Amino acid sequence: MIRPHYLVTGGAGFVGSHLAAALLARGDDVTVYDDLSTGHRAAVPPGARLVVADLADTAALEAVLAATRFDAVFHFAALSLVGDSMQHPLHYLRTNIGNGLALIDACVRHRVPRFVLSSTAALFGRPSDGPIDEEAPVEPGSPYGESKAALERALLWAGRVHGLRAAVLRYFNAAGADPDGHLGEDHRPETHLIPLVIDAALGRRPEIAVFGTDYPTPDGTCIRDYIHVSDLADAHLRALARLDLGSVTYNLGNGAGHSVLEVIRAVERVGGRQVPVRLAERRLGDPARLVAASDRIRGETGWAPRHAALDTIVAHAWAWRAAHPLGYTG
Ligand code: UDP
Repeated sequence: MIRPHYLVTGGAGFVGSHLAAALLARGDDVTVYDDLSTGHRAAVPPGARLVVADLADTAALEAVLAATRFDAVFHFAALSLVGDSMQHPLHYLRTNIGNGLALIDACVRHRVPRFVLSSTAALFGRPSDGPIDEEAPVEPGSPYGESKAALERALLWAGRVHGLRAAVLRYFNAAGADPDGHLGEDHRPETHLIPLVIDAALGRRPEIAVFGTDYPTPDGTCIRDYIHVSDLADAHLRALARLDLGSVTYNLGNGAGHSVLEVIRAVERVGGRQVPVRLAERRLGDPARLVAASDRIRGETGWAPRHAALDTIVAHAWAWRAAHPLGYTG
């Protein structure tokens, strides 16, 4: 039997590397396409083929798609920081939309039948007290969110006109690390809450700054829905299978919100150390509360998070970070 072969753009990054590992673990072939601008060669799981190239390099992209008949493309490669996008809006829009459109167009021309897009909760700029489902209005609060909204729309038309089947997965806060300890989170610079709090606990940074303490939440700090990266990878496999029945859009989170102070307390519990905290100003563009309603993917694919507890997510992140003081270069 011919094994399925998948193209994973951004497969040297945090979520992409975990998905590549999950595909390889079930015996599929994987080609990772990554320019290594933020990803790491060492994050590409053994067994995957790595093409080091920029998505904007259309000749390189053409060559890859012409040489192999892929069963699906998973598109992770993108600029992904909300705050950064508020500083460089046009760079974000041009890079993410330009590269994404080039990839979708190439998939259509090379008759790739299925496409899985990493999208984001940053589509939802309007404050919401309850869990956010797929019907919530798409009103991005940042150019980053806007760039993903544009690609969601492009996929709609690629599906209607050309028959490309797409799964759009809107992640809330990806966190944790591979429970086996092979893969983890290594952003340069790191801006995400959980790894930064762990570094503060380990004494690798002087403190954690809490961005805003006057939000309309029970303890005044922002609430987010932290989802384990391995559960995200599993959701990709299930969404891919569901494409047999047609295109889908899923919001992906645990469905439980945790405040910044709760995350800090979880790190203290897991690590058995105190975290030095500094209360600071709000960060531009942060909504008070983002929690997912993931009923649709649960109902349609049977997906359920296996590592839903915040302490488990933190424990896996801690294990990887403690063992890799220099990240993937260590
Ligand atoms: N945050 C914080 N201090 C930090 C980094 C993040 O208080 O040094 C807060 C941030 O304001 C947000 C939450 O932690 O409310 C999660 O931020 P992160 O950057 O991890 O993810 P985002 O929600 O922006 O995707």
